[in-house]
Amino acid sequence: MRKDGKIYVAGHGGLVGSAIVRKLKEKGYTNIIGRRSSELDLTRQADTEAFFAAEKPDYVFMCAAKVGGIYANSTYPADFIIRNLQMESNVIQAAFQNHVEKLMFMASSCIYPREAPMPLKEEYLLTGQLETTNRPYAMAKLAGIELCEAYNRQYGTNYISCLPGNLYGPGDNFDLENGHVLPSLLRKFVEAVEAGSPTVTVWGTGTAYREFLHTDDMADACVFLMEHYDADKLVKPDPYAREAINIGCGEDITIKELVAILAEVTGFHGEIVWDTTKPDGTPRKIADSSKLFSMGWRPKIALRDGIRQTYLDYLANRDKYRS
Ligand code: GDP
Repeated sequence: MRKDGKIYVAGHGGLVGSAIVRKLKEKGYTNIIGRRSSELDLTRQADTEAFFAAEKPDYVFMCAAKVGGIYANSTYPADFIIRNLQMESNVIQAAFQNHVEKLMFMASSCIYPREAPMPLKEEYLLTGQLETTNRPYAMAKLAGIELCEAYNRQYGTNYISCLPGNLYGPGDNFDLENGHVLPSLLRKFVEAVEAGSPTVTVWGTGTAYREFLHTDDMADACVFLMEHYDADKLVKPDPYAREAINIGCGEDITIKELVAILAEVTGFHGEIVWDTTKPDGTPRKIADSSKLFSMGWRPKIALRDGIRQTYLDYLANRDKYRS
């Protein structure tokens, strides 16, 4: 990517998009554009096309998406599939019509088949039944990957996709019911310390393993891939080979270990109560990121440091996160 090329980060206000904007600035990219959803509704094709025709970006990071946890996914299945399909097809088509040089589509590791072996390798995509609770979201994201690959095959475009795992970092969803485990528990510990509460209740048995990646590391990997990884469908031996690439840190820990770090960082010295009426979920979820690592990329943020930084950010900005 040229340092002065025009880069459109779709979804620049979100957890992923905002981390990508920070990383691009840090690396010296000077021409970054974004639009709030109130300014540009990407589910509307005509508006999306008009925006691309006026701005003519050189590069696109497609991070705009309707996302949410298990509760939101099962309550609003139609919204999850239709909005994601609309946004991604509008952006990818408009990118093609306006000769965007390179595009990155953000998918997610939760679109792998439910029974796929661990660690998850890219070639396991579409080899089995999806998890039913987020199937509409997963189908839309799979369609997005296929859209990129189909354009690459037919038109020789350079559209790549990535599959980040469990992300955490500043600006996360710290909701106690709907958030993911790390931000929800971080908030529970902070509030327990502030209230002088002797216990914190954690869901499940604590034995499940999860891999956590800081959004700044994920953004670093995304920019690295845009700089070093090309689709090249027209020259690859197998034009149907999956282009999507995992972004993970390669290490997982138990929820129990996570809880110990959270207690230490937040200064909680009380007792942990395990609510085993709540589910553990899948026993292990980790991506095989060897394809990415073999290109020379490695994560830089140790989990404890990343949690400390997220904690400080939460303390400073929690009123903003609540609104
Ligand atoms: P998953 O990785 O898709 O399963 O989603 P989560 O990020 O919600 O992680 C779920 C794991 O964390 C399960 O093993 C839960 O039992 C455990 N967990 C413990 N406490 C909490 C909590 O307060 N919120 C959430 N979301 N998960 C928790």
